[in-house]
Amino acid sequence: MRKGLINQRVAAIAPSASLSLSSAVEAMLARGERVCNLTAGEPDVDTPAVIQAAALRALQAGRTKCAPAAGLGELREAITQKLGRENGLVYPASQVIVCNGARHALFNVFMALLREGDDVLLPAPYWLSYPEMIRVAGGRTVVVPGREENHFKITPQELEAALTPQSKVLVLNSPCNPTGSVYSRTELKALCEAAVARGLYIVSDEIYETALYDGAEHVSVGSLSPEIFAQTITVNGFSQAFAMSGWRLGYVAAPEFLAKAVATLQSHSTSGPNTFAQYGALAALAGVDTERKAMRQAFAERRDLLYRRLESIRGLACVKPMGAFYMLPNISRFGLAPAVFAERLLADQKVAVVPGESFGAPAHVRLSYACGLDEIREAADRLETFVSGL
Ligand code: PLP
Repeated sequence: MRKGLINQRVAAIAPSASLSLSSAVEAMLARGERVCNLTAGEPDVDTPAVIQAAALRALQAGRTKCAPAAGLGELREAITQKLGRENGLVYPASQVIVCNGARHALFNVFMALLREGDDVLLPAPYWLSYPEMIRVAGGRTVVVPGREENHFKITPQELEAALTPQSKVLVLNSPCNPTGSVYSRTELKALCEAAVARGLYIVSDEIYETALYDGAEHVSVGSLSPEIFAQTITVNGFSQAFAMSGWRLGYVAAPEFLAKAVATLQSHSTSGPNTFAQYGALAALAGVDTERKAMRQAFAERRDLLYRRLESIRGLACVKPMGAFYMLPNISRFGLAPAVFAERLLADQKVAVVPGESFGAPAHVRLSYACGLDEIREAADRLETFVSGL
């Protein structure tokens, strides 16, 4: 057999820890075991009915052929309107590309933007797919650790200290998966001004923009100043805001040169996303305010409950998340690596959490509260039993 059968860049990437954990949990559930699953990376509610109905109507009306590779014209236009209305970003529709999820949008961006040897500054803890995507695209990740005392956010000084001669891109994700941290306008402006002054592009992943608590404000990076806008690539999608994770729809809005490159890459890889799903997305943008409000309230209630419970468990108190739907307690006082902690917790108490190593959080585990209140209560009881035995 020929040696080196797998493409080197693909061979170098690691399987997603959260996806492999989900399969372990599914296998336990299939055996009838009662597992408390705190690993979910998507809302647990159904897509709002009006969105489903719009996709069904499109399907029944014969919208079963390929849409344009960069996305349906009407949807690109509707996204342009949304970005203007909700985010203070003025992009022409030609600079908006609809992709198969925000993950795919990010992948396209890294593939189109990075050259062999380019450095990407990545604040840690980070969403685990970024480094793997960057590696496949030929870039190198330079981790910029966010201090826990600063709610895991990085400062302009920390960014400056991490710069290398090959630095090309800064990735920002506010609200953040896995920390739940949200940059304030002031913090974000100072950081982005420093990045732009160094000629960096900023990839701003705003997928959790609507999951905010205690009056936290979402600030779109590109809205901060014209100079910052010119260097910003905005990524967003429908999975989190509209409970449409299975629809696989996301988008990128970018400077013209990059939007064109992404569109070309997409035209030769996946082509445009599912046509009738895009009609559902159009209905989502036309407004499902009631459902979104209900989702927000439900998540706020879950966050409060889990945070209160963790605070009361010895050694599990954590930074209070202001957005997204995750918590990241520091478990270093138990003397176990996160992967071992998670494995033992699953085996002993049947509670599934994601170990922090793959998020660039080597002393933490990630708990998702995208599940019901009863599940959170039960999981907290079991966590308490588990850590009291350590
Ligand atoms: N970015 C972050 C930070 C995420 O947590 C996720 C989903 O988990 C994505 C992007 C991908 O979202 P999508 O379902 O649109 O591909």
